[in-house]
Amino acid sequence: MGAIAEPTFRESVDLMFNRAVSVMDLSPGLEEKIRVCNATYTVRFGVRLRGRIQTFTGYRSVHSEHLEPVKGGIRYAMAVNQDEVEALAALMTYKCALVEAPFGGSKGGLCLNPREYDEHELELITRRFAYELAKRDLISPSQNVPAPDMGTGEREMAWIADQYRRMNTTDINASACVTGKPLFAGGIHGRVEATGRGVQYALREFFRYPEDVAKAGLKGSLDGKEIVVQGLGNVGYHAAKFLAEEDGARITAIVEHDGALVNDEGLDVEAVRNWITTHGGVAGYPEATYVEKGNTVLEKECDILIPAALEAVITLQNAARIKARLIIEAANGPITAGADEILRNKGVVIIPDLYANAGGVTVSYFEWVKNLNHMRFGRMQRRHEESRHNALVDELERLDRYLGDAWSMTPSFKDKYLRGADELELVRSGLDDTMRAAYQSMREVWHARKDVLDLRMAAYIVAIERVALCYRDKGL
Ligand code: NAD
Repeated sequence: MGAIAEPTFRESVDLMFNRAVSVMDLSPGLEEKIRVCNATYTVRFGVRLRGRIQTFTGYRSVHSEHLEPVKGGIRYAMAVNQDEVEALAALMTYKCALVEAPFGGSKGGLCLNPREYDEHELELITRRFAYELAKRDLISPSQNVPAPDMGTGEREMAWIADQYRRMNTTDINASACVTGKPLFAGGIHGRVEATGRGVQYALREFFRYPEDVAKAGLKGSLDGKEIVVQGLGNVGYHAAKFLAEEDGARITAIVEHDGALVNDEGLDVEAVRNWITTHGGVAGYPEATYVEKGNTVLEKECDILIPAALEAVITLQNAARIKARLIIEAANGPITAGADEILRNKGVVIIPDLYANAGGVTVSYFEWVKNLNHMRFGRMQRRHEESRHNALVDELERLDRYLGDAWSMTPSFKDKYLRGADELELVRSGLDDTMRAAYQSMREVWHARKDVLDLRMAAYIVAIERVALCYRDKGL
């Protein structure tokens, strides 16, 4: 139904790209070069499972190689298809440019429902997929570096890294062929929660600007804000948990694949997550009202809506009924191009996906650098910093004794000051800095130009300008 057809995910990304370039000064040739997807490789391979050969279809799409390696997650889901993988690869190009991670954009996917296979079967499938990609340089530390996405995590990344290493026994940088690995396999502290943490940092930065907050019809800080989250997976769970525990926000509804939970007093995110792990869904959770038609809860009255599950959940069909004042796209492409326009006309502020969920690729970038350095961050300087801080504390203690009752050091100061930053603290600091800088670059364009209608358009403009500069440097 509906007179206007809903564009596909890739068409939506192209429409958003076109909106941005319409106010930019790019030659038509360069514009086209940046828009198009360079290549998509489709692979079909067989794996012997449960006594018979099963055939799987997978993709790895490379959108832009203006910088190499190219980077982007691997998704396991039944809905994976070429259009989706190409849209996600394009988003990766713009995302990396926006947060200044020196990569081109790529994405991969495998059509399968991971819940239908046991761990051993998933390992066989993942290793075979990795083999097919690695032998074509579609997994490589210098050319193409995957990461986790929907349906994949540390475990799959460890299998991929190991498979690549077996095929490239003399590559000293082998562990940099994929990011999102567990710590024992060359991962980095803070990667698992990085995307959710990035969503939190993005919201904190947004709320530092009262005029931006006012544009959404909100005021004050994150404290006490009512939030609806869709998808309590890696990204949604961490974002919801941190916002509730550290910023005083109230998670009033969680929408999952089997329905939604509503509790205006605020849901216990940890308890809901444990419930899902044990029961496979949210149904039956005792401390909330269960709504079977989960998607209707996206229309619930709230301050902030966080779609963190999948694409195209806010469409021409339901956009007019959305009541949130602020939407932060933790998932990729949750709002279609048509819905985007309806929401803009309603005055809803949207913090766009290419910025909002860039925390994952940012910390992946740190992990890749760590792997190439062959050393964890902070190892060289931590104790040195500590001894310099010690010297200062010794002097302050001398002053403390000398001044008697007139002055004394705050009891917690010594502990806090003496502790040199470990890897996790450095990762958080780097992520926070990246999210702040990227927001500032977007909002500058948003506020400076009348023809820039929203943050998404601003984000695309900043990203496309940076990609265009790279191409110009290459003489294109
Ligand atoms: P995930 O597989 O860990 O979690 C997805 C969650 O969504 C699951 O809990 C699942 O049950 C739920 N879900 C599935 N279908 C649903 C439906 N119809 N309605 C409501 N909930 C549903 O995936 P993730 O890694 O958290 O990724 C979520 C989104 O974030 C995706 O769009 C992904 O591309 C994007 N993203 C992820 C990362 C990352 O680091 N993992 C980085 C950037 C962007």
